[in-house]
Parts: sequence; C-alpha cells; structure tokens
Amino acid sequence: MNSVRPKRAPQRLDPDQYDTLRNQVLRRDGWRCQICGAMSNLEVHHKDFRSHSGADSEENLIALCNGCHTKIHRS
Ligand SMILES: [Zn+2]
Ligand SMILES: [Zn+2]
Repeated sequence: MNSVRPKRAPQRLDPDQYDTLRNQVLRRDGWRCQICGAMSNLEVHHKDFRSHSGADSEENLIALCNGCHTKIHRS
C-alpha cells in the first residue's frame, strides 16, 4: 500500500514557458492594453487569481499596461 498519489500541484510554468505564454497573450490582444489601448509597458494580468481556478492559460490572461495593471490590483 504505498501508491503515492501526487496532489494536484499548482501548475508552475518555468520562465521560458511563461515567456512564451505571455507573448501569445500580447499578440492575441494586439500588443495593446485592453483597458486604455496603450502599447508600451505591457504586462499580462491573471483575470482569475492563481489560487482558485485561475490557471496559467491564455484565456485567463489579459494584456494590460503597467498603469492599468497597478490600478486593477489596487481597486
Ligand atoms: Zn492601460
Ligand atoms: Zn495582475
């Protein structure tokens, strides 16, 4: 009776994979902030936080500029 059942570990992407994913999201969103349309200082934001179902998936990520991203986290 020693079958080890790995718990569903939170999905961790390595930096390379994350970079690729990030680029996919930015390209999908046209390299524009999805709130104000800025095309510089872009970052990706998790619409759902990773802690619940928020996955590192393209559908859960959105391109935001640094300013809007900061605002979203403050509100
Ligand atoms: Zn913005
Ligand atoms: Zn964020």
